[in-house]
Amino acid sequence: MECPICKTLIYDTCKTQFCPTCHWELVVISADASQSLKAYFDRKLKAFQDSYSVITAIPSLESKIKRLEKENDDLERQIKDRKKDLKDSQIALSIEQKLHDVEIIIRETEQRISDAGTLAAQWDAYQEKLLELKDAYERAQRNGVQSRYLNEIRIFLTEYGLLP
Ligand SMILES: [Zn+2]
Repeated sequence: MECPICKTLIYDTCKTQFCPTCHWELVVISADASQSLKAYFDRKLKAFQDSYSVITAIPSLESKIKRLEKENDDLERQIKDRKKDLKDSQIALSIEQKLHDVEIIIRETEQRISDAGTLAAQWDAYQEKLLELKDAYERAQRNGVQSRYLNEIRIFLTEYGLLP
C-alpha cells in the first residue's frame, strides 16, 4: 500500500505499524466501523497531511531563504560598488571643475599679461612722443615761435587723459 500522508510504498503492511518515512500509524478500519470513528480518522488524516506538507515545505523554504540571502548579499555588494563608482565620479567631476577653473585663470592671466604688454608699448610710445614734443617746443621757444606747438601739446595731453 501507499502511505496516505507521504506516498511511501509499504510492502509488508501486516508487520509494519508505522510508516518509516512520516510515522503515520497504518491502521486499517473495518468497513463496519462507526461513522464517528471514521470521521475521527478522517480528521486525524487531514491534520497529519497538513503537518506533513508544512514540514516538507521547510527545506525548500530554507533553500529559498538561502537564495534570497545570497541575492541580498549580491545587491548589497552592488550598492557598495555603485557608491564607490559614484564617489569616484564625484571626485573626477570636482577635479575636472578645478582644472576648468585653472584654465580660466590661465586665460585671464594671459590676457592681463598681453594687455600689460600693450600698455607698456603704449607707455614707451607716449614717452617718446612727449620727449619729441618737448624738444620741438624748447627749440621753438628759443626762436620765439613756441605758440605753434601749444595746440599740438594740448591735443597730445588730452589724448592720454592728462588734460580734461
Ligand atoms: Zn508516510
